[in-house]
Amino acid sequence: MQDPGKGQALVTGAGGFIGGHLVAALLARDERVRAVDVLPAGEWQQRFETAENVVADLSRPEPCAEVTAGVTDVYNLAADMGGTGFITHNKALCMLSSLISTQMLVAARDAGVERFFFSSSACVYPVGRQDTPRVEPLAEDDAYPADPEDGYGWEKLFSERMCRHFREDFGMETRIARYHNVYGPQGTWTGGREKAPAAICRKVAEAVLHGKDEIEIWGDGEQTRSFTYIDDCIEGTLRIAEGGYAEPLNLGSAELVTINELVSAVEEVAQVRLGRRYLTDAPQGVRGRNSDNTRIREVCGWEPGTSLAEGIRPTYQWVEEQVTETGGGSPTTSQTPPVSASPR
Ligand code: NAD
Repeated sequence: MQDPGKGQALVTGAGGFIGGHLVAALLARDERVRAVDVLPAGEWQQRFETAENVVADLSRPEPCAEVTAGVTDVYNLAADMGGTGFITHNKALCMLSSLISTQMLVAARDAGVERFFFSSSACVYPVGRQDTPRVEPLAEDDAYPADPEDGYGWEKLFSERMCRHFREDFGMETRIARYHNVYGPQGTWTGGREKAPAAICRKVAEAVLHGKDEIEIWGDGEQTRSFTYIDDCIEGTLRIAEGGYAEPLNLGSAELVTINELVSAVEEVAQVRLGRRYLTDAPQGVRGRNSDNTRIREVCGWEPGTSLAEGIRPTYQWVEEQVTETGGGSPTTSQTPPVSASPR
């Protein structure tokens, strides 16, 4: 039973990976949820009949005003984005997401919403501080002086500042999480927007399915990241959104791993050992990145705790099911990063 005393939450980007999991978590707490995405209903990763589901393009002001009417809490996750290959080749599309965040902030202010959550990214951090695999973990204040990831990172940094100024100038409560490489079941796993964990899971599952003994790796495999399991991402999102801290907070695992270690973790789950062909001219993003979790520990008394070994198991199993169902051999197994020039 939904609690009629509770306000209504709006989740944008609800047809996507994190948005779908967030809708599920809010519904599990008996909250009333309006779930919105530009994708046609049949293309949502997850869709729940107990939510109010709306298909709308939130880069335009009128739909933003319509979906924001009557809601108390906004979780703005909608963005045109993808993994390294996508953001390297689609900078204009990434920056056009500023239309979504801007129109959504204006609509939320005009509708008098109580809280506005914005999903930012570790891509706001200066690229010059991420040029070695053994990086110092990045703390929130490191975002300035600004030199973020071209395109995608600039859009996130701009939208963070918009949130701050809407809070300062219009008194709307805003909250910001900087997500670090989120992965898990229901994440994009093919089509050109997938991120490293899903892409590696797919390549390994396809190799197993087709009896191949080698997979392609973008880069030399020694670039590092920290990967955040979806359950931690959702728990942290709710903690940050409902807490009292208004400045951006890292929401990421602090377990630094190389891409080679990620591949080994996937092989372990799949019970296979494969050859690795390194594509050193493929997009790799920054050389290394990790999350400094000092502040989220202070503010929330919590930090992401799921290890890669724990999180990659359900992720691989889910991707393997998708590969088996579709017969594998997806169009993205080639080394050329596929580029979608059209908005979704
Ligand atoms: P996703 O691509 O799976 O979901 C984003 C959703 O936004 C998509 O379903 C897309 O259709 C929707 N969308 C795009 N344009 C829209 C529009 N004009 N109107 C309405 N909906 C629109 O991505 P995700 O991984 O779930 O990421 C969610 C948010 O978190 C994004 O803002 C992303 O930038 C941010 N983020 C994600 C990660 C990660 O590792 N997944 C890391 C850092 C930040």
